[in-house]
Amino acid sequence: MRSEYCGALNTAFIDQTVTLCGWVDRRRDHGGVIFIDLRDRDGIVQVVFDPDGKDNFALADKVRSEYVLQVTGKVRARDAATVNPNMATGEIEVYGTELEILSVAETPPFPLSEHSSVGEDVRLKYRYLDLRRQEMQHNLRFRSKVTNAIRNYLDQHEFLDIETPILTRATPEGARDYLVPSRTHDGKFFALPQSPQLFKQLLMVSGFDRYYQIAKCFRDEDLRADRQPEFTQIDIETSFMSDEHIMSITEGMITDVFKSMKDIDLGEFPRMPYSEAMAKYGSDKPDLRIPLELVDIKDLMTEVEFKVFSGPANDPKGRIAALKIEGGNAKLTRKQIDDYTKFVSIYGAKGLAYIKVNDKADLENGLQSPIVKFLPNDVRGAILERVGAENGDLIFFGADKATVVSESLGALRCKLGEDLDLYTCEWAPLWVVDFPMFEETDTGWTSLHHPFTAPACTPEELEANPGEALSIAYDMVLNGTELGGGSVRIHDQAMQQTVFKVLGIGEEEQREKFGFLLDALQYGAPPHGGLAFGLDRLIMLMTDSDSIRDVIAFPKTQTAACVMTDAPGAVDRKQLRELNIKLTEKAAEKKPSSE
Ligand code: ASP
Repeated sequence: MRSEYCGALNTAFIDQTVTLCGWVDRRRDHGGVIFIDLRDRDGIVQVVFDPDGKDNFALADKVRSEYVLQVTGKVRARDAATVNPNMATGEIEVYGTELEILSVAETPPFPLSEHSSVGEDVRLKYRYLDLRRQEMQHNLRFRSKVTNAIRNYLDQHEFLDIETPILTRATPEGARDYLVPSRTHDGKFFALPQSPQLFKQLLMVSGFDRYYQIAKCFRDEDLRADRQPEFTQIDIETSFMSDEHIMSITEGMITDVFKSMKDIDLGEFPRMPYSEAMAKYGSDKPDLRIPLELVDIKDLMTEVEFKVFSGPANDPKGRIAALKIEGGNAKLTRKQIDDYTKFVSIYGAKGLAYIKVNDKADLENGLQSPIVKFLPNDVRGAILERVGAENGDLIFFGADKATVVSESLGALRCKLGEDLDLYTCEWAPLWVVDFPMFEETDTGWTSLHHPFTAPACTPEELEANPGEALSIAYDMVLNGTELGGGSVRIHDQAMQQTVFKVLGIGEEEQREKFGFLLDALQYGAPPHGGLAFGLDRLIMLMTDSDSIRDVIAFPKTQTAACVMTDAPGAVDRKQLRELNIKLTEKAAEKKPSSE
């Protein structure tokens, strides 16, 4: 139906007759001449109808925003005075000679040219219209090109694209499962995969050696900012490769994609042990664009009388850290400091102590702070020296359980970086390595990654001292966002059983849940490892979008629902009966069902 895309036209087409198909972005009537900005996925071009072309003109007069048109016309240069430098096709226009209205449209619920004032709920309800906007067209096109580049890279490196099931058993990645009742197996349920983890490991046992998949994953997580219950991973697994080799091949993939899609050189990624990341940045995904660092001062506080400090100082699980803002005295007002105090409370911090360094030589009167009166002069001096304070600096403090201090000061560090625009570069990638195998919770040990991650020690050492064990795991971080993560896996049944044991998964449960894996490990499992990248997050960073919802065609809302299709929805009684499911009265009341 068309000869060209609207956005493809330029001066090279002058005097050519073209046929275009697209949507009416805008229609203007200028003293008897009708201008229609026609839009398709490539861009917008101006089409002109004048009264000389009688029938067409009458028809053009009828069109409204978002009508779908087929237009034939001649490309011509615009007069110098009407050239539009803000429009890619602004040097030309199409003089319309034929017009057909292919589809009419109601007035859209929001203008598609500018969307700033439109709430996201409305955008998501009419997502098919929202997706017509240039920004969304760009994002999804960009996403398609990136996945294509990734497929090419992996194909060139001999990776095979193999699909794994969606209806499966639970794969533990630390979230709740989405369950699907089975009609043919009464009372039983499938789980949607939290990741293809176990299947990709089994593919290694089968000898495929290098696997990848652009895989949908499902996690029923509590609502945290900017997560989606279903999301996409670039999922990778390899055999006979060391952790170093896996990191270098996947780092190559990311650097290649940044180079080819954005002409950005990410350089070689530095490595940082988890312990250093937590100590200096309070986070296992540090944003290295920000030059601020946490400094531990716990040892300086053991003797002070002030409980807020001496408590955590004498608690083995406590942490006291300082965060120095160079020249912070002049940069931050009292009101801002109060706002930051509120900000850190989100992370459980009970307050935010600070010292303003007016005159570091005068320990008695040169420090302005609500807490300094509780600190003897020698401690004051030692703190200033430890953080390398200069006059004019402002120092924040966190004193609490280590997790609270790291999380709150880590988040404050990022917030200050953003608010004070402290960024020293545009892109800061790194690998975080040497993660602990487990973390301790109220209910015992849990895996930091997942239970199939190989430890860097023997099964005996692991069992004797789970809290000390490190894993052979690695996370790729870019600008404070975890782009991907993975590990070398356990390929030995005894080791896998030891990990299950530490996690409190008894033998019966092991057989019941993971019997197939334990069996497979007995039939010649090669050393293997891999990782997965979050595709949505990668595209979000590359397109500089505010939310992953802006790079997903049909995302869910923050409450894990689709306001367009109204999913999740009620189902009729017959379907439930077939599944042998009976809703409790409470649930049935909420969901009217029909038969
Ligand atoms: N399955 C892991 C995840 O989804 C990634 C990996 O270990 O390969 O996070």
